[in-house]
Amino acid sequence: MKDSKRDQTGVGTMAGVNGASYNGETCQHQRNKDRMTEIAHHFGRIMEVLGLDLDDPSLKDTPARVAKMFLNEAFIGLDEAQFPEVSFFDNTYNFDEMVVVNDISLYSYCEHHFVPFFGKVNVAYFPNKKVIGLSKINRIVDFIGRKPQVQEKLTREIAETLSALLDTEHVAVYVEANHLCVASRGIKDHNSHTKTGSYLGKFKNEWTKKEFMSTFQ
Ligand SMILES: [Zn+2]
Repeated sequence: MKDSKRDQTGVGTMAGVNGASYNGETCQHQRNKDRMTEIAHHFGRIMEVLGLDLDDPSLKDTPARVAKMFLNEAFIGLDEAQFPEVSFFDNTYNFDEMVVVNDISLYSYCEHHFVPFFGKVNVAYFPNKKVIGLSKINRIVDFIGRKPQVQEKLTREIAETLSALLDTEHVAVYVEANHLCVASRGIKDHNSHTKTGSYLGKFKNEWTKKEFMSTFQ
């Protein structure tokens, strides 16, 4: 079984013991259950240290709820096995113009503060021999967003993933996001947005980049 991810999290001890007796899906399932139990345990301890009463009916299920949310939703992007299935179509019509997808919703978490950042992603590429269904791009962006990270790394990862999947070096990604760690704490600036771009291949050309940017600015 693949345990490298789990080991990085520092909560991998149980799978090492149990792992040998499981295989395939059962192993994966057990591993997820173990991780959920462990996260719930530690989150409960954090709540206790904060002085929250875990016997309160409204709070008692929070540790388990948070653990489930972390693993199944908010941080599902850490689990490569969950990467969206992508079906490709041959570019039989030899379409070689820019394809743009604007305003893809993004939800992610700042890895420094573990609070959300969210916004919009714009993507463009020049097709090579294959194209993918447009909604797949939204799914891929959504998946890559769902883990703790910084926006710069996220932007680069979306561009490189699409470049590899679409087998084209011409990909552009532009992300505009609102970070709750900036808006709700520290400087408390509600209006500031962080903008990051990654431009590969033809998009390094000023005119091509401008054409892409003009679709959303
Ligand atoms: Zn932050």
